[in-house]
Amino acid sequence: MSTSSEQVATLTGLSAAQLPPAAEVAKRFPLTPNAAPAAADAHGEVMGKLSFGVAFTDHMGRARWTPERGWHDRRTEAFGPLTISPAAAVLHYGQEVFEGLKAYRHDDGSVWTFRPGFNAARFNASARRLALPELPEEDFVGSLAALVAADERWVPGSEGSSLYLRPFMVATEAFLGVRAAHEIDYLVIASPVGPYFPHGFTPVSIWVSQDFHRVGPGGTGAAKTGGNYAASLLPQQEAYAKGFEQVCFLDAATGTQLEELGGMNVVVVDADGAVRTPALTGTILEGGTRGSILQLLRDAGREVREETITLTALLEQIRSGAVRELFACGTAAVITPIGRLAGADFDVTVADGAPGETTRELYGTLTEIQYGRRPDPHEWMYRLV
Ligand SMILES: *Cc1c(COP(=O)(O)O)cnc(C)c1O
Repeated sequence: MSTSSEQVATLTGLSAAQLPPAAEVAKRFPLTPNAAPAAADAHGEVMGKLSFGVAFTDHMGRARWTPERGWHDRRTEAFGPLTISPAAAVLHYGQEVFEGLKAYRHDDGSVWTFRPGFNAARFNASARRLALPELPEEDFVGSLAALVAADERWVPGSEGSSLYLRPFMVATEAFLGVRAAHEIDYLVIASPVGPYFPHGFTPVSIWVSQDFHRVGPGGTGAAKTGGNYAASLLPQQEAYAKGFEQVCFLDAATGTQLEELGGMNVVVVDADGAVRTPALTGTILEGGTRGSILQLLRDAGREVREETITLTALLEQIRSGAVRELFACGTAAVITPIGRLAGADFDVTVADGAPGETTRELYGTLTEIQYGRRPDPHEWMYRLV
């Protein structure tokens, strides 16, 4: 049964065509070049390894906010340590939000990003929930454009690689009282990354957490905020110790419904071709990858349903063969096939444990759009450089 009545409003965000050109918005974040950029050999070493989130580019974007001045002091400058008070609110109360997106090098050398208007809208939705100020879309996109223009040599060109962009907003006011802070910093940093599956498209095993929840009703589950990740680390550590790669969380209210992984949404493909994913109830983070995949499936005329998925029914459907594919999706890995689902009293293999046809097709279609090798009918791609 569909639970569309419980569904929360979904994010739209501006399409690439609705955003001003990158060269124009980048001017909002003027560059002070790094006086000591990485030397050729250090740069070469990073670009040869492309490990996820380990090495960072020469620059970072930033801006400040106070109630009196609003957003000001926008700039692009050398990447380096921050100077903040040990009393900064974020260090004590976790008032912060973040985003994750990628810059892709196309075959003609140009550099593009995927749905930045969506990420800008989600950043602001997260900011509202964490009592942080909203950042105008033109600033969000302008900061990315200025950073990628300054650090273009860090955008890899090899197959499946990209420059991962991490915008974030933190409460830096030095104040231990409990209220929304009055001094806020926005920053964006970048890290060159390789393909998530250097050894191919390998299904992962998932532990379903029945003891721990990452979020609860009325909490911050629909916001991209560090606290949700902090809550997922212990269950993740325990699952890892049991030999599983990721954790799937159930809803905190009943403990019976699938929600998502710590940082990826989940999707089920039925044997009859229908595709299902948990509805956005307020305790699930609305992924851009999730939304794009659902759109691609609808474009292809496939049946797509956003609804309640109970663990008991899903296990039964996996065992009977009524469910043929299971995958997780998010910007970092795009699509991760799930081959095994286990918990305290069950352990099932999905199909024969190999990635399914729909999973492979969606991965191919989405990444071909991102790398400019396929038409982009929804104006998802925005040119940065
Ligand atoms: C970021 C994130 C996702 C995936 O979102 P994308 O926009 O697809 O990258 C899913 N779940 C959680 C909890 C997240 O933080």
